Amino acid sequence: MAECILCGKQTGFFDKRNPEGYLCKECVSCIPSVIDCTSCSTEKLKYFREQNLRKRKVFDTTAVFGSLYLDNIHRIFCISPTQKKGEPAKLSDMFWVSEIDEIALCCVNPVCTGSGTGISVTCDAELYVRTSELRIKTIIARNEKCSYKVVDGHKVEWKEAARIAMFRSMFNQMIADENNTMLKEIRAVRNQKRIVWAEGVLMLKNPYTADELKQHYDFLKHNLQYSVSKHETEYYDSILEQAYKILQEHISEK
Ligand SMILES: [Zn+2]
Repeated sequence: MAECILCGKQTGFFDKRNPEGYLCKECVSCIPSVIDCTSCSTEKLKYFREQNLRKRKVFDTTAVFGSLYLDNIHRIFCISPTQKKGEPAKLSDMFWVSEIDEIALCCVNPVCTGSGTGISVTCDAELYVRTSELRIKTIIARNEKCSYKVVDGHKVEWKEAARIAMFRSMFNQMIADENNTMLKEIRAVRNQKRIVWAEGVLMLKNPYTADELKQHYDFLKHNLQYSVSKHETEYYDSILEQAYKILQEHISEK
């Protein structure tokens, strides 16, 4: 039989194929369920497979709601209709919180049954996920109990199921944590650029001590008057000082 175009393993007679060749079952199980493997390009399939394997490697369930599994440590979630010992059994629909463009968890299909004091209101929980690559809309839990109250003796006013509200706030927390991490990373990169610039100005090479930094600064400042014209001195002086302050801060943080 032919080799899998993604991993090179032998494929079986009934395995799927895209226009370029066969795909083994293991590789197909790494591709999001809404992607049609038979028409998807090999390059895209490779990308999905690689991303999925990275997520699988670290995924560890911290909370479950129907077919939705959260890992709020690694900020990954998985949608799996089947489970094995509390863990998702189908691992193809796994997402980093960071790859989500849009997400919604809401109450749909409310049903009110019974009458008088025996009323019960239930709803289904629907999850909608959009990334740059795909969209998924799926019911993750059915018949969730909603709280309600009877108004004017006959009208039933109900609220969304408590578990839906709870999981939405968990999601929001994961998204907020992810945004904070990203902001920190951006700041770190910006800070790194400032340090490289300052080291360039003071002609310093890592590593250096606070004393060496001061020596370099004093030396350059002293020699400034010999190397630039009088009216430029002030300008270069301020640049030297700026660089010196940045590196002083950097050294004290270390
Ligand atoms: Zn394969």
